[in-house]
Amino acid sequence: MTVTKILCRHTETLPKETMEFLRGIAEDYAKVKAAVYERYSGIKNMNRLTPVFDIQREMRASGLRAQLNLPVVYYELAVSEAVTNIKTNWSRIKDKIRQEIRDRENLTADERKYMRTILKIDSVYWAVLNRRNYEMPQNMQGIEIDAHRLNNLLCRLTRKFLVKPKVRGANQFKVTPAGYKYKDGGIYLVSRLPRRRIFLPLKDTLVTNRQIRINIDDNRARIQIPVDVDTKENNSADSVYIYVGYKDALTLSNGHIYGKGLENLVTPETERLNAKNRERSKVRMFSERQAEAGEYAKAERIVKNNLGKKKYEAQKSRAREQTQNYINTEINRMIEDENPGRIFIAKPALKKRVKSFVKAINRGYARSFAGYIRRRLAEKCRVLGIDFVMVGVRDARKICSKCGAEGICDREGFHCASCGYKDTPANNAAVNIEKAALEMEKI
Ligand SMILES: [Zn+2]
Repeated sequence: MTVTKILCRHTETLPKETMEFLRGIAEDYAKVKAAVYERYSGIKNMNRLTPVFDIQREMRASGLRAQLNLPVVYYELAVSEAVTNIKTNWSRIKDKIRQEIRDRENLTADERKYMRTILKIDSVYWAVLNRRNYEMPQNMQGIEIDAHRLNNLLCRLTRKFLVKPKVRGANQFKVTPAGYKYKDGGIYLVSRLPRRRIFLPLKDTLVTNRQIRINIDDNRARIQIPVDVDTKENNSADSVYIYVGYKDALTLSNGHIYGKGLENLVTPETERLNAKNRERSKVRMFSERQAEAGEYAKAERIVKNNLGKKKYEAQKSRAREQTQNYINTEINRMIEDENPGRIFIAKPALKKRVKSFVKAINRGYARSFAGYIRRRLAEKCRVLGIDFVMVGVRDARKICSKCGAEGICDREGFHCASCGYKDTPANNAAVNIEKAALEMEKI
């Protein structure tokens, strides 16, 4: 069996003109995406996103490509990438609505079923949002519900959660295979001028015939290349049960810990960002006051001199990369040391939508790397032929892994008043995950 893996290759340091070319393409690429978001992310076009050809045809006819003078090999991918993101956006919206459906206590079982059914069938959901007629789905026929009221609720919830996707930074773009060529130890990219190509020297060459992504750094580029790799044969019969945490990245039910002290990397950076953001919002308020007083030039100057995004974002992404490197190294070390045939982790808990009024806490959560760790683990397992299993566990941190009673998790760790058991919260949770996994295997 083969799986696709994304490899990353840095170019050599690039001359100024090359960097300008890359930035120009990335900027136009972002403009195309923004145009697609503008036109197609609303409720009117929700049912037209798959297949992507219609939108591609319309975008081709829109004249935007000629206006930007952006070669087809970039333009088409900008369009399809934007459509993919709109689709992801819709599934996120639906997830949020489903959560509301579950949490609202005044809905009956039939009403919940009706709303979930509508969300499942795009053409019907579209009709509801656009106030068109539709045929009642088969499984709801003959069931008495106030469809009108429920449709209104669906519309309201959609309006609440529908946010147009945003283009985040213009520093990357994709190229179709027709747009690049390997030669002379690097790749030649199609430029805006006919028959002229731009050369990106690579430290090592990796040949592929797939779409590649170019990321732009300060004075060089990073190229993401998908390659098919054979999955390794894995004969190990060992299972490991892992709690993914904030304090330490991976705690195993056998007591081993990998990614120890992850929080020492994450917490100072979170605190630094919080302090920085407080400072920035003070400056912003000051500038707004100047603007209110009619001092527009001054207000603008304050923003320009103090609220630059470049350095702020660069520092943020450097810290993030450092943390991600640490996580990856530790995942590799875990797999090497434990040689598992199967890895069990807990299914991520659906977050309750209770917003904390303490912004710093919200931001702390937002900077949690748990999602990243899970994704990397899953990918590693895929490539190495390790079974990756998510187990549903309720309150893995709260329940005592010895006796099953509800215990207390605080600064001191986990302790159970019922049987007196004491442990670290992570280890207690890992043992609970092991128990749940073994229970699941029995069935
Ligand atoms: Zn106990």
